[in-house]
Amino acid sequence: MLLIRNGRVIDPATQTDALRDVRLDGDKIVEVAAPGQIQLDAHNGEIFDATGFIVAPGFIDLHAHLREPGQESSETIETGTKSAARGGFTAVCCMPNTKPVNDNASVTRFILDRAKASASVRVWPIGAASVGSKGEAIAEIAAMRDAGIVAVSDDGKPIATAKLTRQVMDYCLSLDLPVIEHSEDVSLAAGAVMREGVTSTRLGLPGMPAAAESVCVARDVQLAELTGARLHVAHLSAKASLEQVRSAKSRGLRVTCEVTPHHFTLIDEDVQYDSRYKMNPPLAARDDRKALIEGLADGTVDAIATDHAPHEPALKDVEFDRAPFGVLGFETALALALEQLVHAGRISLMRLVELFTTGPAKVLGMERKIWPGQPGDLTIFSFEQPWTYDVKQSPSKSRNSPFDGRQFKGGPVAAIVAGRMIHKK
Ligand SMILES: [Zn+2]
Ligand SMILES: [Zn+2]
Repeated sequence: MLLIRNGRVIDPATQTDALRDVRLDGDKIVEVAAPGQIQLDAHNGEIFDATGFIVAPGFIDLHAHLREPGQESSETIETGTKSAARGGFTAVCCMPNTKPVNDNASVTRFILDRAKASASVRVWPIGAASVGSKGEAIAEIAAMRDAGIVAVSDDGKPIATAKLTRQVMDYCLSLDLPVIEHSEDVSLAAGAVMREGVTSTRLGLPGMPAAAESVCVARDVQLAELTGARLHVAHLSAKASLEQVRSAKSRGLRVTCEVTPHHFTLIDEDVQYDSRYKMNPPLAARDDRKALIEGLADGTVDAIATDHAPHEPALKDVEFDRAPFGVLGFETALALALEQLVHAGRISLMRLVELFTTGPAKVLGMERKIWPGQPGDLTIFSFEQPWTYDVKQSPSKSRNSPFDGRQFKGGPVAAIVAGRMIHKK
């Protein structure tokens, strides 16, 4: 039993923004009431005083790489989900590009078994779209769905061809699963290590144009229209891609998208031969960032997702063009969203909470709500408390964050998963 007292409950599902006490029992929320209304003598469990803090539905990260099985020197389900809990996340969707690839039910079951044994937060696996994510034959999607996947993706790369994408979409439509696409035209992106532009020219680094992303988004939106399937564009970074998602939505297509904190915070000009700034899609142009923030504000963007991509220091501490793509994401996501979006006056706190909770839940066809009978998943955070991110303190096995040493105003305070306090600052 757990009682969260006197917090400011912000819940987009019920449009609540008010002081509330929330009581949890077992793995569920059992009571939500005005402060002081819940009978204390009936409660003999833990009490958390949330005075001055915001209490939100449990945050969901639609996009992360937990590296297990196969690359445990960079991350494991245990270390990755500890880091997620520190970031306030209560559920994490893990991408299938592990070794072996999660392209069949036995790998899905292995991930879920490891999660049961070692994870701090809920782990929702994403299955590969094609066998080995090689883009040749469709994976065993139905069997993986029965084993517990929540979506399919060949993330790390796009689904290789339009024909296979159509086939995957047809299949996923019948199973009611979203197809999550890493949108990239690999011929346009080949050999590139950052976004093409003035900065890539100045640094002498090979760049990919914005069209490397938006060409693939155009293909997939048209295939979503053809099939009627649910398409979710991962880590959308280009203005031209966002415009296509906006237009698809206005035509009633089931197209959604996510944006990462690094893409709404940084731009290509921030890249200085420092591999911590190397990720795929790469940091975009100033105009793209501006468009992403508009999309986050006007509802075109459905979710903030981290694309948490740990790489052990030995892999990442090399020259820029030799380093693998990817940055850590869990522990700085909320604070960056507060800094760039809320404190900067671009979105409301209600909208921020939506982007971390009901937004991603909807992409997965789920609900997220602070209400009796709902799962006992809550995220508690501060709005203004100053703190400094020190990557050395992270439970993650990797250190590849460009935000190490950054000072923040507001951030995660506690994560509650299935009625249990998992992380408390
Ligand atoms: Zn990707
Ligand atoms: Zn990814």
